Amino acid sequence: MTYKFESNQAFAKKLDSEDILSRFRHKFYMPHDTIYMDGNSLGLLSTDAEKNINRVINEWKQTAIKGWMAGDKPWFYLPEEIGKKCARVVGADEKEVILTGSTTVNIHSLISTFYTPQGNRTKILADELNFPSDIYALKGQILMKGLDPDKELILVRSEDGRYLDEDNIVASMTDDIALIFLPSVLYKSGQLLDMPYLIRQAHKRDILIGFDCCHSAGVVPHKFHEWGLDFAVFCSYKYINGGPGSPAFLYVNSTHFEKKPLLSGWFGCGKDKQFDMALEFEHAKNAGGWQISTQALLSAAPVESALEIILDAGMHNIREKSKHITAYLAYLVEKDLSKAPYEFTIGTPLDPEKRGGHIAIEHATEAVRISKALLDHNIIPDFRPPNVIRLAPVPLYNTYHEVWKVVQTLKKIMDTTAYKHYSTERKTVS
Ligand SMILES: *Cc1c(COP(=O)(O)O)cnc(C)c1O
Repeated sequence: MTYKFESNQAFAKKLDSEDILSRFRHKFYMPHDTIYMDGNSLGLLSTDAEKNINRVINEWKQTAIKGWMAGDKPWFYLPEEIGKKCARVVGADEKEVILTGSTTVNIHSLISTFYTPQGNRTKILADELNFPSDIYALKGQILMKGLDPDKELILVRSEDGRYLDEDNIVASMTDDIALIFLPSVLYKSGQLLDMPYLIRQAHKRDILIGFDCCHSAGVVPHKFHEWGLDFAVFCSYKYINGGPGSPAFLYVNSTHFEKKPLLSGWFGCGKDKQFDMALEFEHAKNAGGWQISTQALLSAAPVESALEIILDAGMHNIREKSKHITAYLAYLVEKDLSKAPYEFTIGTPLDPEKRGGHIAIEHATEAVRISKALLDHNIIPDFRPPNVIRLAPVPLYNTYHEVWKVVQTLKKIMDTTAYKHYSTERKTVS
C-alpha cells in the first residue's frame, strides 16, 4: 500500500476534512492547549466513560450492596459483559474474554496454566525486545516450577535492537520448547509480528502459543479465535482508553476451558456456584474461570464505554486511519527531518501492515532533550531509552493537522537548538 501525501498545511486540513472518524474526537477530553501523542501509553478519557463512572458511583450511593445484583447492569456480571464486548474487538468468542486483574498478573495466571514442562519439553520461548514486566513474570513462573530461568527461558535475539525476524522465531521453535509467549506489537519500535503465521508454525510443532497484545488491542484488528491462538493478555488503558490502571483482559481459547487456573480465586467459580462457598474450587468453564478477585467496579465502568466507542467506530476503520496517519507522520519526518542538520530516523517498519499504532522517531544523540523540549511546546510524546521518541497519532482523537504541527515543532526545536536548554537525564516516568 502506498499513499500519496503533500507536506503543506492545507493538505493536512484536507485529510482531516476527509476523515470518517473525525466525529469521535469531540467525545474525548484533550488536555488543554496540548497535542496529545501518547495514547499508546495512556488513552484519553471520553465523556461516555466519565458518565459510566458516575453511573456506578450513583449506584453505590443509592443501592450500596444491592448493586451487585440490582439495576440494569448488575455489578456481579459486568466483567463477563465487558469481556463479551471486548471479544468483538479482538475477534474472539463471547466466552473467551474476561475483564480481570492487570496485564502482569494475567501473564502469571495464564503462564501458570499453560506452562507444563514435561520430559524434554521444558523451555519457554520469548524475545529480548519484550516489555520487561513480561520477562520478569516468565522468569518467576519458571522458578515456581522449580526450574532455572537461565536455562529454561530462551530469548530470540534481535539483529538491530529494533525488530524481530519471524523466521528467526520459527527457527527457535525446537522440540524442547513447551510454550511460546510473544508481544503482538513491540512496544519500542512498533513492529507488528505476523501472529497467524507464528501461531500456525507453533501448532505445527505442537507448541502452545500466547501473545501480549497491550500495544495492539484497540488499534489493530485481531482474529484470536479464527487463528486458533491459545491465550492472550492485554491492558485496557492504552488504545482501549479505559483509564489509568484500568483492569486488563485475558483471552483463553475455548479448547482450553478445562485446563486449571492455578492462581485460583473465588471469582473464578461458576456464577451460580460462587456463593455456595464450597471449599472445592471448580472453575467456570470459560475465560471467567481465570478471574481471581472481586473486580474494582469504578475502574471497570470506563472500560465498558470505551469499548462501545471502538465498536461504534469499527476496528476496520480504526486500523485504516491508523495506517494512514502513521504513514503521513513517517512521510513528514522523512521529508523534513531526516537530513542534516536534523538527522532523525524512523525506527518503525515503513510498511503499514507491519506496524502497530505508533511511530518511533530516533535521534542518535539528543532524543531525551528533544522529548523534553516537545513537552514545553505542549506536545506530549513519550521517550524510551536510549534514543526513541514515540509518537502515537490515535485514530479516534488525533488529527492530521496535529501531526503536521508536531513535525513543524520538531523542526523549530532543532532549528533554534531549543533542546540544548534541557538536561540529558530521563524523567522518572517518561
Ligand atoms: C503496557 C504493558 C504492560 C503493563 O503491565 P501492567 O501489568 O499493566 O503494569 C505489560 N506488558 C506490555 C507488553 C505492555 O505494553
